[in-house]
Amino acid sequence: MTLNGRVALVTGATSGIGLGIATALAEAGAAVMLNGFAAAAQVAALRADLAARGAPATGYCGADVAHPHEIAAMVAQTCSELGRIDILVNNAGIQHTAPIADFPDEKWDAILAINLSAAFHATKAVIPGMKSRGFGRIINIASAHGLVASANKAAYVAAKHGLMGLTKVTAIELAPHGITCNAICPGWVLTPLVQAQLDARCQAEGISAEEARRLLLGEKQAMITFTTPAQIGKLALFLASDDAATMTGVPLSIDGGWTAQ
Ligand code: NAD
Repeated sequence: MTLNGRVALVTGATSGIGLGIATALAEAGAAVMLNGFAAAAQVAALRADLAARGAPATGYCGADVAHPHEIAAMVAQTCSELGRIDILVNNAGIQHTAPIADFPDEKWDAILAINLSAAFHATKAVIPGMKSRGFGRIINIASAHGLVASANKAAYVAAKHGLMGLTKVTAIELAPHGITCNAICPGWVLTPLVQAQLDARCQAEGISAEEARRLLLGEKQAMITFTTPAQIGKLALFLASDDAATMTGVPLSIDGGWTAQ
């Protein structure tokens, strides 16, 4: 599966799932613009690694996707440095857990801004270029929580369900233009975002790291195992490829059986 000649922008690509996706796209020959928070030395190392894996060009933009004007600037920077955007991966995301009655307003606003509104603003910004070329792939990283709920995750579940709605509208509007939009819905993936939840559990329940992992997975997934960022990268690669030209508007679960139950 080749992406030679394609240019991808991946938000939240300095860690976890976004990095797994950026790596898979680079290995297939795409030029990649990384976005996310990271120190300069880490960014340099990530870019060198992507180049070594096959990316013909790389770039980095430290835009905070909570701010629409920074998203517009990131899209402009990508087009100016790498030529255009063929593949947009809306991946940047954050989490906060608390019951609704105690959920901090500012956490609600931040999660909605980063996990949902950012995808709208980035999609809006890439559409004109994609339409003019008659090709585009928009991949939204939703979650099992885009399809079902869990307690204590009101903002995250609301944002991810919203992202599913945005995915469908984007797919329908852009269908006549050779542009697809799909959502990947992972279950548990062991990244810093999930490690924080494991650490909190160890502390609150006084249990070992291994026990926390077993309990976390066992509550939700039929398979008591994490999906890896590399596996999600391969799924994104397929969605970005020519073979997925008529797949659009769908949620793709990769969740160890979480939402089958
Ligand atoms: P992570 O914490 O490892 O990575 C998050 C990335 O987003 C980092 O690169 C970070 O710098 C970036 N980021 C955070 N806030 C940002 C902002 N305001 N502007 C720009 N970049 C920002 O998390 P992850 O687990 O890899 O999560 C990536 C996506 O996958 C998220 O949307 C998350 O909701 C989703 N997801 C994760 C899991 C899981 O189990 N890890 C499951 C389902 C869905």
